[in-house]
Amino acid sequence: MRRKLAAGNWKMNGLAAQIEVLNDLTSRHPTPAVDVMICPPATLVGAAAAATAGKPLMIGGQDCHTAGSGAHTGDISAAMLADAGAGAVILGHSERREDHGEDDALVAAKTTTVQGAGLIAVVCVGETLAQREGGETLDVIKAQLTGSIPADAAADTLVVAYEPVWAIGTGKIPTLTEIAEVHDFIRAELTGRFGADFADKIRLLYGGSVKPTNAEEIFAVSNVDGALVGGASLKAEDFSGIITAL
Ligand code: PEP
Repeated sequence: MRRKLAAGNWKMNGLAAQIEVLNDLTSRHPTPAVDVMICPPATLVGAAAAATAGKPLMIGGQDCHTAGSGAHTGDISAAMLADAGAGAVILGHSERREDHGEDDALVAAKTTTVQGAGLIAVVCVGETLAQREGGETLDVIKAQLTGSIPADAAADTLVVAYEPVWAIGTGKIPTLTEIAEVHDFIRAELTGRFGADFADKIRLLYGGSVKPTNAEEIFAVSNVDGALVGGASLKAEDFSGIITAL
């Protein structure tokens, strides 16, 4: 049985005072019925981990380098994130793919690094609006899954997030039928490639304009095991509503 996961991605938002949101969340949810994760900017990972130590809220990173250490100015390794208290890393977010030209092969290499460091890899896939309108959604998702998840990936530390690019931060979401179609497809693809035992363990998150007001209906969709939430994870009240809806 897969335990549901509510994951928040703060992106490039949050100064030191934002840690208070974590205190608020852990006070509101001392024993959540689902797993809860927040991925703050790298500058806050250590403080966030300290604030949530011993509490049921995992801290994650938003990206990392493929190497363990070395001459990579401005980058962060998975080992550094783990050392700062992170338990997971988001990989291949569409903003990384778009802003930094990350491709599937790089995301796969990062997945190997993250899993090797003992962290959960949250691998993101999703089509653009042009790809959806062109009827290419499932082909795009298939290619991203195949390219971004390495053949030797470990099931226990893998999460897949389906995030249609056109739904991120726009207030638009696919129909529930469209979400079901893609999530069912991802489960089937993972089953075909890795077998049912592996695929059944993987939590599939939906991401893209999830709010307390639409969370319940999205979470009822087939093969949706939680959410990756951007904007609505920045305020405790909003993210709390999403945790409760799961
Ligand atoms: C995201 O960037 O992962 C995301 C889903 O953002 P939002 O919830 O703001 O659409």
